[in-house]
This record gives sequence, C-alpha cells and structure tokens, in this order.
Amino acid sequence: MPCTRNINESPRVLWYKSGDMSEQTRELITALLDSEYGLALNSISKLPGENDNFLITTEDGRKVVLKFAGDGQDRDSFRLEHLAVELADEAGTGLDLPRIIPTSTDGLMAEYDAGAGRVLNARLFEFVEGVAWCDAGTAGVEQLRELGRILGRLDLEFETEDHPEAHRTHRWDLARASQHRGLVRFVNDPDRRRILEWSFHLYGASAVPRLATLPHSLIHADANDENILLRDGRIAGLIDFGDCLHNPTVCELAIALAYVMLDRSDPLEAASEVVTGYHEVRPLSEDEFEVLFPLVCGRLSVTVSVAAERRLIDPERDDWFLTEKRAWPLLETLFDIDPARASEILMAGTDRSSPQDPGQVTGALLDKRRHYISGALSLAYDDPLTIVRGRGQYLYDNRGRPFLDLVNNVCHVGHCHPRVVEAAQKQMAMLNTNTRYIYPGLTEYAERLCSTFPEGLDTCFLVNSGTEANELALRLAWTHTGRRDLLVVDGAYHGHTSTMIDISPYKFMGKGGPGKAKPWVHVVPLADGYRGKYRGCDTAAGEAYGSEVARVIDESESPIAAFMSESLLSCGGQVIPPAGYMESVFRHVHGAGGLCILDEVQVGFGRVGTHFWAFEKLGVVPDIIVMGKPIGNGHPMGAVVTTREIAESFVTGMEFFSTFGGNPVSCAVGLAVLDVIRDEELQGHALEIGGRLIEGLRGLMGEHEIIGDVRGAGLFIGVELVRDRGTLEPAESEAEIMINRLKSRGMLLSTDGPFHNVIKIKPPMVLTADDVDMVVRVLDDELGRIST
Ligand code: PMP
Repeated sequence: MPCTRNINESPRVLWYKSGDMSEQTRELITALLDSEYGLALNSISKLPGENDNFLITTEDGRKVVLKFAGDGQDRDSFRLEHLAVELADEAGTGLDLPRIIPTSTDGLMAEYDAGAGRVLNARLFEFVEGVAWCDAGTAGVEQLRELGRILGRLDLEFETEDHPEAHRTHRWDLARASQHRGLVRFVNDPDRRRILEWSFHLYGASAVPRLATLPHSLIHADANDENILLRDGRIAGLIDFGDCLHNPTVCELAIALAYVMLDRSDPLEAASEVVTGYHEVRPLSEDEFEVLFPLVCGRLSVTVSVAAERRLIDPERDDWFLTEKRAWPLLETLFDIDPARASEILMAGTDRSSPQDPGQVTGALLDKRRHYISGALSLAYDDPLTIVRGRGQYLYDNRGRPFLDLVNNVCHVGHCHPRVVEAAQKQMAMLNTNTRYIYPGLTEYAERLCSTFPEGLDTCFLVNSGTEANELALRLAWTHTGRRDLLVVDGAYHGHTSTMIDISPYKFMGKGGPGKAKPWVHVVPLADGYRGKYRGCDTAAGEAYGSEVARVIDESESPIAAFMSESLLSCGGQVIPPAGYMESVFRHVHGAGGLCILDEVQVGFGRVGTHFWAFEKLGVVPDIIVMGKPIGNGHPMGAVVTTREIAESFVTGMEFFSTFGGNPVSCAVGLAVLDVIRDEELQGHALEIGGRLIEGLRGLMGEHEIIGDVRGAGLFIGVELVRDRGTLEPAESEAEIMINRLKSRGMLLSTDGPFHNVIKIKPPMVLTADDVDMVVRVLDDELGRIST
C-alpha cells in the first residue's frame, strides 16, 4: 500500500548508524564536548529509545547525556523544556530530573561546526540514575499509587503557570490523536483493524467532545515506562521533557496509565491504583474521570497506528515497534470490556459511586416496557440499545459505548445542542402560553422562518409534528380548491393519523394496512431512475414520470385538489427524482387547477447542502410546504408555510387553534435552531461532508458488487444493495445484516425503500470528516465480509 502522508520522522544524525559507534562519531563528539562544554570524554554509549541520545562519562567521572536536535526542533521548544524541568523541580516530588548543562557561553544549546558546512545542534543534560519502570518488574500497589501522587503533584505545579511556548502540538499530542486515525488502514490484520477503529472511535466520541472544557495546563506528556526511573524500588527520576505541551491536564495521567497497563494481567486494576494516588493529590472532576479511559485508548491507538505507518518506511527498525508489540494485547483485552465498566474499575479507589449493572437495567426497562407500552411500537435492533446520553452526532448507551448516529435527522444541529437547550430552558423558566396572546417569539420566529422561502410564501402555521403539519396542509388545499382528491407518490409516508395513513402508500399498502387506496387517493409512480419504470436521471426520465402524473389526473373522475410529495423521497428509498420531474408534475397539476404540497419534513433546513430547502434544487416553487423533525432539533414542532392567498381561504369562521403549536418555548427553540444552522454554517458543511461521504461510498462500488447505487444530496444519502447489478434483485437480508454489524462497530443506520434494501444515511449535520472516513473504512471492511 502506498504511503500517502509526509512522514516527518526526527532526522537521524547521519554519521550514526544503529548502534554502530564509528571512530569518526566518537571523534566528533569528543571535539564537540571539548569545544562547547570544556569537558573531556572518557566513554560513550547510545541510550535506549528511538532518539539520538548518548550517555557520556567524562574523564573526571561525571555522567551526562548528549542529545542531538532534529530539524523540527527549535529554540522555543528547548526553552520550554528547560522551563518544564524547573517547574517540575519546584513540585517537591524529590525526583531527580534531567537538568540542562549550559554551554561554556551559558547557552541552552551548542551549535557545533562539524566542518563541511554541517552544524550540529546538541544539548547536554545531567544523567539521571535508575532502572526504567519497564525493566523494574511488575509494579506493586504502593509503587502505582506513588506514581499517581507524583504525577498529581507535578500537574498541580504545572497548573500554576501558563507559557506561550507550551501552546504547541506534535504527533504525540493526545488531544489531537485523531490526526492518526486514517492510519488504521495500514493495519493488515482485520481483527486488529476492527479493534483499532473501535478504540479511535471511543476516543473521538467520548473524549474529544469534552476536552475543550476540561482544565488545561502544561504537562510532561510522556510519562512512559522508559522515562520513569526507579532506585531501590522507589520512583526516583523522571526524564525526557521533550514532548511537554499545554494540554488537558488529565492527559498526563492518561498517558502514564497507557504504559502502566502494558504487559499486565490486571491492567485496569493496576491503573486504578495510579488514579487513586493521583486523585488524592489532584482531585479529578467528574468530566476528567469520564474521559480517562477513552484517552488511554486514544494513546494506545496512536502507538499502534504510528507503528503501522512506520513499518511502511522501515520495517527493520526494531526500536520503532517495541511498544506496539506490547500495546496490541492490551488493546485486545480492553476491547472486550464495556467502557462504562472500565471507567468504573479505574475509579474504584476513589469516592465515586458505582453505576448499576447495565444489563440488569436494560432487562428491567424492557420488562416494564412490555407491560405498559403497546407492542405496536417497535424497537430498533434485535438486541436493543439503552441510550443514556446524546451529544453532537453521537449517542451513548448505558454500557458507555458511543454510537455514531447516521440516521437521526431530527437532532439536526446535533444531539442536545447547548444553544438549543439553553434557549428552551430560559424560555421555559420565563413563560409558556399559547397563540391567543401576543408575545414576540411567535412573530419573530414566523418572520425568520418565512424569510427562508421564495417571495410569496409568507404565511405560516405552527403545530407540533410533521403529521399535524401535513394534516393542516391537506385541509388548506381542500378548503382553497373546494376539491378533495389527492395525488400521492408510491411508497410515500406522511404521518400517523387516520387521514395521513389514508394518504401514505407506505402504510396503507404495507403490513397491517388495507392494501388499497381510498377512492379519493390516487397513487402515482415513485420517480426512481434506478429501479423504477423509467431509468436514468435525465429530463427524459423526469418528463416520463411527469406524464404518468398527467395520466392519473386525466383518469380521475373528480378534479384533483393537490399533489402531495416529499421533495426528495425518503421512505421511498432515499430517491432523488430525475431532472425536470418536479417541474413537469407541477405543470400538470397546476394546469388541472390543483395545488402542489411538498413535504420537507425529512429533507429541509439545509440538509441537501446546495440549498436551504430541497425543493429549491428541483426548480419549483410549491404552494404549500410542510416542515417537521429538524425544525425543533427534537423538541416537538411542525410548521406549514403557504401564500397569503391560500391562507386567506382558510379563514372561514372556524378557528384554527393548536394548544401547543407556536408556544413561546417552541418558538425560542425554532429560532435557536435557525441561528445554529446559520452561525455554524451547517448547510455548507452538509455539502462538503456529504460530498466527501458520497465520493467515499462511490469509491467502494468498484470493490463491492453488492452496492448497486449510491445517490444523494448533501447529507441525504442512500446506498442501495443488490444481489445482481443487472437484475437489481434487492439484497434485503444483506442490508439487514449490514445494519446489525455496523451497530456492533458503533454506527447507527437503518434501511428503507420498498424492498428495505437501501441503507439510509441522514445524520445530524455536525458529522465530521473523521466520522465520514471511518464510515467508509468500516463499510469497506464489513461489505468485504457480507458473503461470509
Ligand atoms: N412526513 C415525512 C416525510 C416523514 O418522514 C414523517 C415522519 N417520519 C412525517 C411526515 C410525520 O412526522 P411526525 O412523526 O413528526 O408526525
């Protein structure tokens, strides 16, 4: 596999070759020490580790460490390192530290002219005596706690000062571990790839979103088991401050834990002792506890993925793969443990209370549900999930597992978006009443909502759900035209009330339905250019489907009141109608004196990326638009927008009143949703991220015959699975298997379409490029296994 990244390894000092100390090297170092430090060399040896560090004994018996600087290192970073050592010194840990030895001219770094235009940058440190943690045998409880206490003390000291130089990043920056996520593909073993993908996912979903609000400070950032030194069984030294940086402070502990856990039969229990010691000195907050385990996974993920990449560069450099070998078995062990359980073990020695057994909780809830809730309500998945938390594009279950929610188009701006939550809470505490009073929220929201539509669509009704909005749209059409008959699209769903069931072929033709339409409901074909009557996405197909509508209008005994359809067909299988289709339909319907109602419940509010409303993509302006789902980001809301003229015909003397529709809380929520879409530029984001996903999915078609079609607009995407690309035989059971396998890999998806063989993708609009890349990699893996 080609290596696509520019790998910036710290450059080797060219005249030193893996352990081979040439006479020339020795002479150079001797000269350097003499000229820059006034020291006479007695003996020299390479220190373990991947950097060019040498242990030197001088003629007067002093032991010092010589380090050569790579190209990427600058004076600022050396000053920072020096500073960090000084701060650590003040922490009162009693540890021996690698104090820098100044040059004869009092500099932190020597710039030695080695001749032939070559300048060597080198630094000299006091040698810290001791046995590395990794060579000192399995640590006992007291050692583990002592390590925690020492790290806690260091961090307390580090927290006292903020240094501009520390605000930097590097490849081991644990707050940015996701930068290495793409390297998962360099892991050849599929089982290990799965584990690594999961580990990065846990880190990305359960740690990253919380890091910004955690306490930050300078940290050593590399308390690994080679850098902690022991003498007589006690921790006596800490070396290598070269990675220190400003970070969430808890990363210090997480990095140490990742190494403490290596090679142990009781990794989490051992780590727990370190946490206990740390918490005694620097008490961890609830949030810091929660991110700890995902951060450990993040660190281990970086170790093995960087190693996988390095193997492509030089598989012979054994020193690059030492930790990797030890990290894999640990990751394999951790993969089998629920994250909630792992966190619980880590906190065992602290005063945190243990959660209830998640399996028991789920069982009890299921029993109660069976008792009190109708069996007509279904549950997703054979092994249903108990969801306890939502944030952004993620849902979290009671076992601490994060799931990338790829199917919830209700929590449009992200689950529990703080601005939406705050708007609701504030208004709820201030006033909630109904539209029979005057309050600014109603009119402000109506104005904002209407401003998103083409001119003329300026009157809005606020209700509580998509169903209600469709009901109202239908009543508006009936009242305005004085007619009753309706055109609906095959496979469409518009809501759950009696009338909506009557006009939803998805329901009345589906399981438990009557199997036929009411006389006033006329079903027109689904304009599916992939498997429908007319194939292709060009205007020829669009016009052909349009003339089917004209035919149904002609054949109807009663005049048509309206055509009702989703702008893009979700339940029909994430279908994008062929070019010119909607224009043709509108021409025929308007020509027959009917109205055109477009249901934007699933596809509106910027989801399609290019436009705010999906109908704008289709070159039409509907008479009535219906909104729901994303409009309140989970708060129950629905809306209808129409022209003043149509709205006026509804003023018949019969009052329109919805107790909750348009209440101040709903209006505040609706406004917050519009604000977030605008301020976070989510429409443009949907175009970019959706485009990336569609491209990635289309890229899989070459490898996986089972993908018959990938279609979409922005973050409204369908992947149609077929057994045969010629016959288009739907791969329904395979789609079902995929959905369950993807769930086990941390992704929530579902199927749709008349044959349930279309994987629908319509995630919260805050999906990231990292998420998209994971989806494509994991789909690639799982599609490869689908026939097995
Ligand atoms: N229209 C469409 C296109 C829908 O997908 C749905 C819900 N799935 C509805 C209307 C009904 O919305 P609600 O469930 O909010 O009543």
